[in-house]
Amino acid sequence: SRPRVVVVGGGAGGATAARYIAKDSNGAIDVTLIEPSRTYYTCWFSNLYLGGVRTFDSLGHTYGALAADGINVVHDYAVGVDRDAKTVSLAGGGSLPYDRLILSPGIDFKDGAMPGWDVSAQNAMPHAYKGGSQTQLLKAQLEAMPEGGRFIMVAPPNPYRCPPGPYERVSMVANYFKYNNPTASILIVDLKEKFSKQALFEEGWQRHYSGMIERLGPDFGGANVSVNPAEMTVDIDGAVEKGDVVNVIPAMQAGRIVHQAGLTEGDWAPVNAADMSSKMDADIHILGDASAQGDMPKSGFSANSQAKVAAMAVRGALTDSRVFPAKYSNTCWSLIHAVDQPDGVKVGANYEATEEKIASTGGFISQPGEDVGLRADTYRESLAWYDAITSDMFG
Ligand code: FAD
Repeated sequence: SRPRVVVVGGGAGGATAARYIAKDSNGAIDVTLIEPSRTYYTCWFSNLYLGGVRTFDSLGHTYGALAADGINVVHDYAVGVDRDAKTVSLAGGGSLPYDRLILSPGIDFKDGAMPGWDVSAQNAMPHAYKGGSQTQLLKAQLEAMPEGGRFIMVAPPNPYRCPPGPYERVSMVANYFKYNNPTASILIVDLKEKFSKQALFEEGWQRHYSGMIERLGPDFGGANVSVNPAEMTVDIDGAVEKGDVVNVIPAMQAGRIVHQAGLTEGDWAPVNAADMSSKMDADIHILGDASAQGDMPKSGFSANSQAKVAAMAVRGALTDSRVFPAKYSNTCWSLIHAVDQPDGVKVGANYEATEEKIASTGGFISQPGEDVGLRADTYRESLAWYDAITSDMFG
């Protein structure tokens, strides 16, 4: 019978890996993908939806083409991995045997990470840091905000998915306010000192949204932030700030199933840089946000890049196909302002596998003061990337 691969999670890592293994093995490998959602809403470009630049529907993708490619798509939730028996058990009952297992469940929030906040409070204070309904909720709250109201974001500590994501979100919320609620204000309560593309964001905020955005860094005592969803307040080292909309993005860890499988060290899963296999189990590969991925940032681009390396390694192991040395890459684009000439910036790098980790071999970043035409081109590049990665994942 055919060797079996089970993939948990149909996001940037999992959908890409399932598709590449199924297609490139021409059906020689039996691939099952476990994913509870019938429609995957990308987190990337969800900030553009908040900014009024994309529709919600344009973020949604379905799994029909994967099924048509021969992948057994199971809409269920993986609740356990038996590494001795090599099976994955499902919430809906039953279990699936595997020869190789790929886990790409993304992130979960750390229990107790933000005093006052837990999942039961996520409707009052949405995170909007997993795709879908949370993003829609945050958008609805922004639209319902009173004139001159206040948006507070509690930004997460490192490491977390999409380093520039919170700051692109601030930019897109400001873009929305500028044209719909121009006296509204934004307060960022940040649990870290510095953030990705900081000089570029701060320059852009000054240029496009002067006076609208304030940021409190950890010099206010960042360790002592708590929230009160009933009062809609954020307590910052004793100073209480009230918001009309409060977006709490708590500290993150690898998706639950990776912890349940005993594959983590601390919050994340250590992997071998050559093939994304777990350092604790050679038959399991861990992709994307859930892995401790060396120099790579947690991004959809990274997860997609890692999936191709893991897919090649899995095919090599199960069908003797040729395996080339791992090469990874990433680019994170952010849109700072959308109207007239879109103001887009980017940061990226290439990576190789060393004994120790996935190591950067050099990168690039947009520069402050760039020409508006170049910034508009950078944004257009991100549109092409969106189409490319989603067709790579979903066919
Ligand atoms: P995901 O894509 O989250 O996929 C995980 C999947 O696993 C989910 O569909 C989930 O339902 C499923 N799952 C979880 N547990 C189980 C289980 N037990 N059983 C079955 N299924 C399970 N990245 C970029 O590259 N560019 C960007 O511009 C960008 N912008 C972003 C903006 C925001 C606001 C956010 C929040 C993120 C952004 N990202 C961006 C980051 C990107 O979304 C993630 O890094 C990427 O999705 C990680 O891929 P993944 O496969 O690890 O996880």
